[in-house]
Amino acid sequence: MAWWVELGRVIVPVTCAGCGELDVGWCPACRAHLAGPMVRCEEDAPRLDRLDGVPVLPVWACAPYTGPVREAVLAWKDRGRADLTRGVGDVFADGVRGVAASIAVAVRAEGLGELLVVGAPSSRAAVRRRGADLVAGLADRAASALAAHGAPARPVGALEQGRGARDQVGLGARARRRNVSGRVRVRPGIRLRGAVVVVVDDVLTTGATLAGAVDALEGAGARVLAGLVLAATPSPARRSPDIPAPTRR
Ligand SMILES: [Zn+2]
Repeated sequence: MAWWVELGRVIVPVTCAGCGELDVGWCPACRAHLAGPMVRCEEDAPRLDRLDGVPVLPVWACAPYTGPVREAVLAWKDRGRADLTRGVGDVFADGVRGVAASIAVAVRAEGLGELLVVGAPSSRAAVRRRGADLVAGLADRAASALAAHGAPARPVGALEQGRGARDQVGLGARARRRNVSGRVRVRPGIRLRGAVVVVVDDVLTTGATLAGAVDALEGAGARVLAGLVLAATPSPARRSPDIPAPTRR
């Protein structure tokens, strides 16, 4: 082996994306933190409520966005750990399988056969930086898991971010909201009138991205049943003080 490759391994050893353990990409303990039954999380996302205290839609998450889950997701999204894509997708698909029955019931209640799975759009800059549209990949995994468990689903890349939307990395809650609001739009040529949709995203923080996606989809005539995310920020502690907490009824 060339000396510079050896040197590279010494300088940049493989470590767990969640806890930093050596010689493993993502250790079983850290993976287990993300795995597990999905739980509802929409109450913790202030931007998902339409100013009446009632969240726009039910959202399920695999885990709270804290500790080793947050580390691993950040490494995957923003620190170039593309080696985690398969593992993260596997865990997400497992979680989605667990809620597929509930979603299938909701689709049947709408009296419609097909469910569209739509990823929240990433900015072009983020897709370029990551080398792939990671959220679109999660939407593909979710659609397969739903289709295999009673909810006839297919992924559709229906949304995009309009010109001017920045990469969200490093933006605070207020800046994110400004960045996203009104800039999510339906791609030209995509027809959604009467469609039943589930929206997928990686992390639910304030809910601004998901709310923008729901607005765009509903504006095009779709009915959005639910959101599915990898992880969700759990507590009000991270919320920007300018965003009022939703009033509970
Ligand atoms: Zn670990």
